[in-house]
Amino acid sequence: MTLTIGLIGGMSWESSAHYYRLINEAVRARRGPTASAQCLMWSFDFSEIEALQHAGAWSELAERLADAGKALERGGADFLVLCTNTMHRLAGELQAAVDLPLLHIADPTGEAIAAAGLRKVGLLGTAFTMEHAFYRGRLEERFGLEVVVPGEADRALVHRVIYEELVAGVVREPSRQAYREVIARLVEAGAEGIILGCTEIMLLVGQADSPVPVFDTTTLHALAAVDRALG
Ligand code: GLU
Repeated sequence: MTLTIGLIGGMSWESSAHYYRLINEAVRARRGPTASAQCLMWSFDFSEIEALQHAGAWSELAERLADAGKALERGGADFLVLCTNTMHRLAGELQAAVDLPLLHIADPTGEAIAAAGLRKVGLLGTAFTMEHAFYRGRLEERFGLEVVVPGEADRALVHRVIYEELVAGVVREPSRQAYREVIARLVEAGAEGIILGCTEIMLLVGQADSPVPVFDTTTLHALAAVDRALG
């Protein structure tokens, strides 16, 4: 039986568009050339979401996520995929609001890192993701990983490029170079792999920009959704 995937996207739509493509391509590869994914997407206006994030209005954000989850549940989704690392800060609140399982973005990521036999990984993402326990903690507790984050100035740079460029669909060569340098410093600090822990980072850098394996959360999450949907 095929399950219906409920995507909570628009954070930003730049990455949600990739989720949609990755999910459909994976279904086609497994089920044949005319096959495509059975899915629903709730897509937020990200300008509202990012304003609430930067204002620290997390309870308002939790309500919005809960409303989106319930709308997808009413629409017939069988499980939820929250297409952003940052908003997993509210994974518990979202999960509590619905009767559907949430496919947590850190889980396929942790599984891929563990399967690669790595233990110490560098994490790139928004300041919320790099600096709070919700994400690193899950990787540390469930997968026994040691997670290192960039230093303060590098974290500010990584965060700024996400919110000022990538969510707006702007991909700049100087930013790519700056990210390469941040990755190199994480590797110097002992990182054996790099988590692209923001769903837009794959627009800017990939395996070619890192001397150690990269783990792209967008792709890993999208493929895990297909595995869950197709069984
Ligand atoms: N898509 C990003 C992430 O994966 C950032 C946008 C957001 O704050 O949701 O964290």
